[in-house]
Amino acid sequence: MGTILNVDGLTKKFGHLVAVNQLSFTIEKGNVYGILGPNGSGKSTTLGIILNVVNRTSGSFQCFNGTTSTHEALKKVGAIIERPNFYPYMTAVQNLKLVCKIKEVSVDKIAEKLELVGLLDRQHSKFRTYSLGMKQRLAIASALLNDPEILILDEPTNGLDPQGIHQIRQIIKKIAGQGTTILLASHLLDEVEKVCSHVVILRKGKKLYSGPVDEMLASHGFFELKSNDMEQLHAFLEKQAIFGKLTQENGLLTAYLKEELAAEELNQMLFKEGIVLSHLMKRKESLEEQFLTLTQNEN
Ligand code: ADP
Ligand code: MG
Repeated sequence: MGTILNVDGLTKKFGHLVAVNQLSFTIEKGNVYGILGPNGSGKSTTLGIILNVVNRTSGSFQCFNGTTSTHEALKKVGAIIERPNFYPYMTAVQNLKLVCKIKEVSVDKIAEKLELVGLLDRQHSKFRTYSLGMKQRLAIASALLNDPEILILDEPTNGLDPQGIHQIRQIIKKIAGQGTTILLASHLLDEVEKVCSHVVILRKGKKLYSGPVDEMLASHGFFELKSNDMEQLHAFLEKQAIFGKLTQENGLLTAYLKEELAAEELNQMLFKEGIVLSHLMKRKESLEEQFLTLTQNEN
């Protein structure tokens, strides 16, 4: 696996405002990365720096292990960071031909890319007749014309209806399936959960988490328990190394697991100790709950 992009201590200040704060992460070939964070958390600024349209204040980043110049590296990047903009009175094909000329790539790929984004049957329609979703799909086709190693997208489903959102997400998965590395910014947790393999979570320009999306879910969950002798229950659980935090509220004890344990096993364990439960429920925090916990705890 090769490293596509390495970001190290990147910082961007706009006057007194620190938009990106000491941000570091690495992008490996073949994965789908999400930069996730609320509006204003520094996602677009980060993408802008990587794409050389925003000047960094400090820190560094390196594309393709620094083996190529920035100019050469950008030729291996496809990006959509603004609303799709093409000539309204030209057809999709005519617009893409123009892009090929500007990018100095062959027009041979046009049909293949239009097919990929599901626009081949509308290739001769004028751009102005396209829906917003179709415009966004054309922009993706355009960004792929030079077969980039990495595709960078800023909020790719913003403003689209549910069907349009679904189509874009399917296309992103298809592109990733063909081996193209993807970096997308999104403020939507469920988008990152559905589309990405890895995530960098930002808040106020600072990284809160980075790693595989499913390791973010790696919590072993927790039990909600009730017994007629809560004190005995609490005392017993406290002695078990398998449990971490214990909290008690409204007569309900919540016991967080540090390792895997099935509800049946716990029930048996407690029964042997003479503790009879009147309520037993095993739960796992959703990614949403974990995301909210993460983004609330830091200032
Ligand atoms: P996101 O894409 O996560 O919504 P941005 O990167 O666009 O966040 O913005 C991060 C912060 O930087 C915000 O507070 C925003 O107002 C500020 N910002 C972005 N661009 C500029 C600019 N050109 N001048 C001044 N402030 C900016
Ligand atoms: Mg943005």
